[in-house]
Amino acid sequence: MNRQDLGSTMTVRAKPLAMLKPNGQREDDGDSSIKLYVGLEFDSAEAAMSLYTLYGIQNGFTVRIGQLYRSRTDGSVTSRRYVCSKEGFQTNMRTGCLAFIKVNKLDSGKWELVTIKTEHNHDLDISGEVRSPITQRKATLTPKSAPVVSSRTGIRSFEDDDPSSAIDLKRLKREELETEPVGEPYKDLYFTCATDAYKFYLTYAANTGFKVRIGQLFRSKNDGSITSRRFVCSKEGYQHPSRLGCGAFMRIQRHESGKWVVDRFSNDHNHELDSPEDPSQKIASAAKSLKEEISSGLESLDLVETNGGLSLVVRERRSGIESQLYDILLKYFQIRQAEDTGFFNALEVDNGRCMSVFWADGRSRFACTQFGDAIVFDTSYRRGSYSIPFASFFGVNHHRQPVLLGCALISDESEDSFTWVFQAWVRAMSGRCPVSIIADQDKPIQNSIARVFPGTHHRFSPSQILAKENENLGALRSMDEFKFEYETCISQSQTASEFDSAWSVLVNNYNLQENTWLKEMYKMRKSWVPFYLQGTFFAGIPVEGNIKSYFGTFITPQVAVHEFITRYEKAIEHHREEERKEDFNSCNLQPVLHTKDPLEEQCRKLYTIAMFKIFQKELLESYSYVGIKINIEGAISRYLVQRCGNGDERNTVAFNASNLNVSCSCRMFEFEGILCRHALKVFQIMNIREIPSRYILHRWTKNAKYGNLRDVDSAGGSQDLKALMVWSLREEAHSYIDAGSASLERYKLAFEILQEGRRNVCWQN
Ligand SMILES: [Zn+2]
Ligand SMILES: [Zn+2]
Ligand SMILES: [Zn+2]
Repeated sequence: MNRQDLGSTMTVRAKPLAMLKPNGQREDDGDSSIKLYVGLEFDSAEAAMSLYTLYGIQNGFTVRIGQLYRSRTDGSVTSRRYVCSKEGFQTNMRTGCLAFIKVNKLDSGKWELVTIKTEHNHDLDISGEVRSPITQRKATLTPKSAPVVSSRTGIRSFEDDDPSSAIDLKRLKREELETEPVGEPYKDLYFTCATDAYKFYLTYAANTGFKVRIGQLFRSKNDGSITSRRFVCSKEGYQHPSRLGCGAFMRIQRHESGKWVVDRFSNDHNHELDSPEDPSQKIASAAKSLKEEISSGLESLDLVETNGGLSLVVRERRSGIESQLYDILLKYFQIRQAEDTGFFNALEVDNGRCMSVFWADGRSRFACTQFGDAIVFDTSYRRGSYSIPFASFFGVNHHRQPVLLGCALISDESEDSFTWVFQAWVRAMSGRCPVSIIADQDKPIQNSIARVFPGTHHRFSPSQILAKENENLGALRSMDEFKFEYETCISQSQTASEFDSAWSVLVNNYNLQENTWLKEMYKMRKSWVPFYLQGTFFAGIPVEGNIKSYFGTFITPQVAVHEFITRYEKAIEHHREEERKEDFNSCNLQPVLHTKDPLEEQCRKLYTIAMFKIFQKELLESYSYVGIKINIEGAISRYLVQRCGNGDERNTVAFNASNLNVSCSCRMFEFEGILCRHALKVFQIMNIREIPSRYILHRWTKNAKYGNLRDVDSAGGSQDLKALMVWSLREEAHSYIDAGSASLERYKLAFEILQEGRRNVCWQN
């Protein structure tokens, strides 16, 4: 068998065979039979797949991608199985064959063959001929409705796609970009495969001065194969601010001959083109745009199996949610809607398929008017192998407890999916956008947040950063010296230039110039370095340490579909009960005062107990600080405030005597909404007897629940307002009943007041 021919049937090639021989020496071309054994190492899982495919061809069977296994800690793929294509019983062709190989990812990043089963339960096809792709395609055709591998793995068997229609970016990436200028596309120009057409258009675009995106594809109504593709100017469409609705594109169509022919072409750009003048710059920019194209393109592409090879095709969205769960949820929504007029739910439908689901009950929507300023979008299901892709939105209430602000099932990890969920959230919350959001840093989530919440400060999930640090800094993380410098640089920097210089010292000292992860993280520093976060309101959710999930122990990876609703409701009941307890305490208990300072008395009256304790701590701390006036500019005086006898911690406070505005360099008020010890120190120096009301955020007070309804914009819909009022009154009645039923005396009083109140309210009309 000619190895050259063999290679051309595959789109991803393994390393040259000889390099994979156990003894590491090249052997005669005469003996090209492949030997597989436990302990064999590969550079990648794909290389293992490729070698197994070749092995299969030599031994008369074909190979399919089997199960994959993910790490519990970070969700990365740790193990893969490649199986004989006759494994399983899902189609008539399959015989339940047990032959397979399994590879595990090693710490070094290489993959090791750990299991091999060579017994097949069927005849092997040892004619030695490689079947033509066409006959093979027919032989292994799988109905589309029954994907061989579940779509949750992200890898589907897609055996009915003609390999010439798949765009093989991996191959493109390896090949040098053509540097000779190519001519303009014209009608009837043809290519042997779609990849060549794409490559041609990329080169043309690089020469002309624009970038390319893979556009729509069209499928045959008869057999679902790809019949046509569009490559568009990257400024086509309007989904992103950088897109201008440009109309330039090239379309290719598949002919009966198998060739791909340009049938439409437009060069009408509605924007200026970049014009690289110097030819070397031209090449560099072309190569750069190709690289960018590949990396941005990969996110919307799927690795699929085609005729014994792997290739990348434009992703078709599929839901990873079990269909049974849709039934359960929709029934649950009906029940809830009947009893809760404020209940909101939405289902995303894409090409007739059910995709993501979003819902928020009246209580969550009401909570959002008060506590929707700083939110967490919790997708911890993505790490750990959760059976249900359940995500939640939560915030922080006036007792510093988590408060639920909406829930979603995420159909797939695409930008479309997250964008839809965020848009549903905004609709449920009457168009309100949060000030800040804590969410994972993956590109689809980042892009969706930028699109739906353009003014919102996105902070990356701390647990995800930690996992990525361990993955990308490896052994350095366990070096005490590095750890100290790294952590100091990140958490101690108090100005942008301090951070920049500490960062470059770190990068140079440890030769990390080529660490791509660090480079990326530096670019995105505003989303994770404490210095950049502190100026934004995050309701005091600490910058470091894990954020506890709202559904924590209630919804675990193993929770079964039929238990989901029960667990979900239990979690909510638990948190709402905790909140009621704190509401009761804040109304009925009085914390002890520790000073004679009138500010302390003032805050005790206003704040909930939890918030008062935070304030009280700052106030008590302020007594061990000294403030020195360092300059005066008009009405504004600046103070240096530091701890007595310890010069390490220095903060400057600016105080305006004419309007009592105060701001401190520690930015605790901006971040947490409580005045810091430094500002309080200056208030003491200036003998301020009352905190200006703007420094006591309503959301931290005992009246947080009632108050914000005054400010609700009734333009949000009278239906919404009605639901909010019902929830507000219901909540108030709840604590009224608690207080009123404490004793018979109180009950009598409570009942009289209630009757009196009802009479008054009725006479208003
Ligand atoms: Zn077999
Ligand atoms: Zn354009
Ligand atoms: Zn301060």
